[in-house]
Amino acid sequence: MYSWYFYSKQNITNHWREIFDPAAQIFLNSIGINGRQSMQKISFEVQGSASEPYDVVFVKRSDTNLSAYCSCPAWENGQYCKHRFNILDGITKGFVSNNLNDVKIVQSWLAATDVEEALIKMRKLEAEAAKIKKELSVAKKEVAKAMRA
Ligand SMILES: [Zn+2]
Repeated sequence: MYSWYFYSKQNITNHWREIFDPAAQIFLNSIGINGRQSMQKISFEVQGSASEPYDVVFVKRSDTNLSAYCSCPAWENGQYCKHRFNILDGITKGFVSNNLNDVKIVQSWLAATDVEEALIKMRKLEAEAAKIKKELSVAKKEVAKAMRA
């Protein structure tokens, strides 16, 4: 039963790869990492809102460079894509691929990269935004209270 399931899932995956691989290849060429020996690559399959799972690919180009590709529409449009951020955060929601242990490896790749630096800046601003949102809510209540008196 399990082997049947595995086989059929494998077929679907292979079919998807026929479509996806040329796009991934173009991406890998565009960031100039193809054929480099130091390059390491880890792929995940994540079920999103589309019927086919998304392919999320992390590429460690060097000790200080990490690139990430996703086959979802947000990535295609150059937007924030939660599939990549989730994996960097260790969130494995919607995981279809059975390489959960690789998440820790990808997380270890983050250290000392430009991505980590940008991520720290983003997290700091997120925390500030949450604080301001809270303060704004209190300030609005105070305005409402002042107008009643
Ligand atoms: Zn994505």
